Amino acid sequence: MAAILPGATIGVLGSGQLGRMFAIAARRLGYRVHTFSPDQDSPTGQVADHEVTAPYDDLEAVAAFARGVSAVTFEFENVPSTTVAALGGAVVVRPSGQVLHVTQHRVREKQFLSGAGLPVARFAVVTDAASLAEGLATVGVPAILKTATFGYDGKGQVRIDRPGHAGAAWATIGQQPAVLEKVVDFACEVSVVGARSVDGDVQHYGVIENTHRRHILDVSVSPARVSAATTEQAVEIARAACTALDVVGVLCVEMFVTHDGAVIVNELAPRPHNSGHLTIDAHVTSQFEQQLRAVCGLPLGSTAARGPAAMANLLGDEWADGEPDWAAALAVPSVSLHLYGKSTPRAGRKMGHLTATAPTADEAERLVRAARAALHPR
Ligand code: AMP
Repeated sequence: MAAILPGATIGVLGSGQLGRMFAIAARRLGYRVHTFSPDQDSPTGQVADHEVTAPYDDLEAVAAFARGVSAVTFEFENVPSTTVAALGGAVVVRPSGQVLHVTQHRVREKQFLSGAGLPVARFAVVTDAASLAEGLATVGVPAILKTATFGYDGKGQVRIDRPGHAGAAWATIGQQPAVLEKVVDFACEVSVVGARSVDGDVQHYGVIENTHRRHILDVSVSPARVSAATTEQAVEIARAACTALDVVGVLCVEMFVTHDGAVIVNELAPRPHNSGHLTIDAHVTSQFEQQLRAVCGLPLGSTAARGPAAMANLLGDEWADGEPDWAAALAVPSVSLHLYGKSTPRAGRKMGHLTATAPTADEAERLVRAARAALHPR
């Protein structure tokens, strides 16, 4: 199929910050962007050419949306499969419904990963109280019970420290199909943001080091401060995942690094990822432009780093004492501010991020943390 060239219109299902940064990249290259979601004046809608507000299960609205664009992509993976089907056969859909089918369900995702020979934590499939008890016997404790669907940022997860807590955990997740996995005693968490083109070329941004707070990504540092052997393993896993999944677009592979330097896959996200936001300021081609290039059937861009970088998320909590002091943060050299246009800062809500670039990863991290601290002059 011929490439979809600048001037064409790209549709984005979903309308949050990922769609917004995708739309900014797409418009810079001369594309038009339409966005579809149940929300109005959304982060994506504010910068798109056209914002459609309708529920994902309004399949007529979905079909009409598809007729108005040359390609459809997603900014989150939990789009119902009926919605993907309603896009119809006439429009390019990347990544494919099959990729979403695998990655939006933790059981299918784990089975895909282990089937592809990629390392995952010991796990068991849980469908009822009996399979949970059996799973605990094989997986062992401590373990984490995760709902198969609609889990992100630690939602739908409960830790089980003793077999006797199984009943309570099963009730906590609402007795839904789930995956039980062994708690990994990790030294650090990392991710590799990869991208795969229509003709199978895979590019990546190296290994990014991630720290979470309350299960939400807090700070990312690039390159990760891990050994060369760990870096090589993580990159090879990401390459293999992109190819085995046959994805067209960006795929983020989140991983744990154990104390002996081994790498274990936690989960996949078939889209640009929070840990890759620093690619906007620190790499030749951002993860968002890369997604656009892949979706449009164009050659992938250079992922070369301009230098080390660090990103700090700005959650709604930053607004607890009023509007943050933006000028103070921007006074820190080499720091850039990205805000997502969300009007209501709620605790835990991703409102924006800061990126710092510096000659070393340590210095980038120090600068971005200093810039975030400067938002709250005392
Ligand atoms: P997830 O929603 O699966 O990405 O999990 C969110 C966070 O919970 C991860 O980034 C880890 O910090 C933690 N976590 C999830 N699964 C495990 C595990 N098997 N072992 C240790 N920590 C985990």
